[in-house]
Amino acid sequence: MIGCDCAVCTSPDKKDKRFRSSILVQSSATTLLVDAGPDFRCQMLRHKVKHLDAVILTHSHKDHIAGMDDIKAFTYFTKKPMKVYADSPTEAAIRREYYYAFADNKYPGTPEFDMNTITTEPFIAGDIPVIPILVWHLKMPVLGFRFGKFTYITDANFIDETEKDKIRGSEIIVLNALRKEKHVSHFNLQEAIDLVKELEIPVAYLTHISHQLGRHEEVEAELPQGIHLAYDGLLLTSD
Ligand SMILES: [Zn+2]
Ligand SMILES: [Zn+2]
Repeated sequence: MIGCDCAVCTSPDKKDKRFRSSILVQSSATTLLVDAGPDFRCQMLRHKVKHLDAVILTHSHKDHIAGMDDIKAFTYFTKKPMKVYADSPTEAAIRREYYYAFADNKYPGTPEFDMNTITTEPFIAGDIPVIPILVWHLKMPVLGFRFGKFTYITDANFIDETEKDKIRGSEIIVLNALRKEKHVSHFNLQEAIDLVKELEIPVAYLTHISHQLGRHEEVEAELPQGIHLAYDGLLLTSD
């Protein structure tokens, strides 16, 4: 956190240095990005990502879409617009905040987006089947996504019973847990742990972590079996 001297912000542990939440999902043929926040450019450079087939957005908050201008680096090389999958409110935000990418006479070097509207219906991006899961971020609808046996949910503090059924049977879940204290629009640590147990998912990684949660090493040591804190650069594989 800018200007903060707390034990997490001054920690020498690399796992305490957190960029904004985002994941890459890869098959042998397709690379998808979920969310492009303000740290998107540095994340792509740090992990040497050279190609993206599509971007899938969870919701329109700035910490999840502020990096979309830097998509231009990818579209510059491919000379093709980037496929973007978003629900209608998120698409409206992209069209509003990146209006210049949708102009008739574009300035050279502007990012190009091929917008695809999604709902809670399953879709296929490249060769990867995706099941959207509707979750609630206070009163804002946000999409989580299930890819095979892997589920990714960020920015939620409530999930309807019918949507929970879409998550059940996952082998791995990445779920948001902001801090220990209660929060108005994010699960706190205990709520996230309770949900993982309720849904009987054997392996969970907690993400969208605030510096208020505490140091990685200390919190990790307190977690129940199978539940871990995610960290930048974490790589998970499944067949
Ligand atoms: Zn949010
Ligand atoms: Zn967020």
